[in-house]
Amino acid sequence: MRTGASAPFVYLSQNGFLLFTGYDFYNIQAAVLKESIRMDFLYKLIKSASGTWYLYDAITSRIFQVSDLFSKHHLALFRALKNKRDFQKLNGDDALTDVLDEYIELDDLYKQGRIFENNITDVEYSFTTEELTESISTKLQHLTLCITEKCNLRCAYCTYSGHYLHSRKHSNKVMSYKTAIDAINFFLERSVDSSKINVNFYGGEPLLEIEKIKTLIAHCQNIFTGKEQLYRISSNGTLMTDEFFDWFADNPDVFLNITLNGPEALHDRHRQTPCGSGSYHTIISSLSRLIEKHPKAYHDRVNFLCNYLAFDDIERIMEFFETETCLKGKMPVAFTGIRDVGHDGYISELVSSHKSSEENAYKKLIDMYTSNEGADNHILKLLFDMTLYRMHKRKIYPSGGEGTFAGVCPPFLSRLYVNCDGVINLCERVNDLLEFGNVIDGFDFIKLNRFLTDYKDANKSKCKDCWAIRLCSLCYKDAFYPATIDISYRDTQCEKEKIYLQSSLYLYCSMLEKSSSSMDFLESFIFDS
Ligand code: SF4
Ligand code: SF4
Repeated sequence: MRTGASAPFVYLSQNGFLLFTGYDFYNIQAAVLKESIRMDFLYKLIKSASGTWYLYDAITSRIFQVSDLFSKHHLALFRALKNKRDFQKLNGDDALTDVLDEYIELDDLYKQGRIFENNITDVEYSFTTEELTESISTKLQHLTLCITEKCNLRCAYCTYSGHYLHSRKHSNKVMSYKTAIDAINFFLERSVDSSKINVNFYGGEPLLEIEKIKTLIAHCQNIFTGKEQLYRISSNGTLMTDEFFDWFADNPDVFLNITLNGPEALHDRHRQTPCGSGSYHTIISSLSRLIEKHPKAYHDRVNFLCNYLAFDDIERIMEFFETETCLKGKMPVAFTGIRDVGHDGYISELVSSHKSSEENAYKKLIDMYTSNEGADNHILKLLFDMTLYRMHKRKIYPSGGEGTFAGVCPPFLSRLYVNCDGVINLCERVNDLLEFGNVIDGFDFIKLNRFLTDYKDANKSKCKDCWAIRLCSLCYKDAFYPATIDISYRDTQCEKEKIYLQSSLYLYCSMLEKSSSSMDFLESFIFDS
């Protein structure tokens, strides 16, 4: 068994999370899977940074510290717990007599009802279809309009570059004014019970349609009276004129999300015009004008989104945001890895061509985060706080029982995505081929119900025997490929998710070892979904 000091191999997940493949984890998982098809116990062993072993019990979601001896003999111990006669044999084996104390402890936990055999018989959604139908008839909160599929840039890793097999490609399609109004009316009728609404303008590059956006926002401001309103424009930041800035400054409910991937060299490496010129200077000089003319609007309502390709780049990105004076101390609100799944291989090449020593880079980031000096670093917090939050606030199940698809949201309730043609898609993260009606005829509930049934049928038998069931964040986007469920695609996502969760448990256990108050800051943690 390798020691905790062994550094993990790391890579990026599809959603940008940090992953590592601790060798122990793989070996253990492989051994457990060989053990039986229906798992008697669902658990994971985690070795923290200090080398201490922990047992994550997946039925209750509790974590227990265990001994080195336990970690070596866990299969035999759980087998013995399942069948006491086996343990008598085990106890008579000279090589294993030392494990008796571990067995007694495990048996105590079992008798106290702190761990259980795998008693998950079914996996369900956290909502019923009746609840969903009712909620999406009156409680919608977020509308995302793909206002244009046109873009003036050709970023190498763009979802619409043609390299992602389930995504549309760049096109000249634009949402007509009529379709946009139909979409807004559709949203208005179905958000009557929401006190707050968000309308997001997405593309392509939305600022190519800025006059339409201005008219649509003015229309929304008139018809959503009495509700808290928030409008977001997701832009590449290269088409911002002084006139746009004046309008932006006059509309305090409009927020601007600009993608900025760090210093010029990193940003321009992939965010380029069709003729290959970088976009960094255009963004920075535009922002300087905004800061000069409307400093408050910049300060309060411009947000940076940052994408990274490799861990090697993260320190440079951190330094850039900390020292670049023209940004006036503004930090990114989101820090995301490039989506490295579902493509034709080009994106992998892109990612691997910029990696050098990912193992060391990852270890360094974790070390920085867990050290006192890195604890307040904004980028490190973006990378790791949410992970810790999910672990710390996980639900504890007193007796196991039913499983739920933990990462799956009720479709449309948190996001409603409408494409240029007025077709309803699930959200901007799920592929464009999944259509559920349109803004004239309404939701296609038959299709929606079939979709939910298909997802459940394809996943439940695997999920109910999976140690990740309580923590899993996978959702529809990780199973439908391109527009029907693809089991091998889903399985690939599952393996990545489990590795991510292992790394999360590793980080969590290691942080808790620092001090019992090391998670206190999470009490006031707020995240924007
Ligand atoms: S700006 Fe956005 S939509 Fe345009 S190419 Fe870049 S990533 Fe794609
Ligand atoms: S990793 Fe896969 S099998 Fe495990 S709970 Fe998540 S979706 Fe289910």
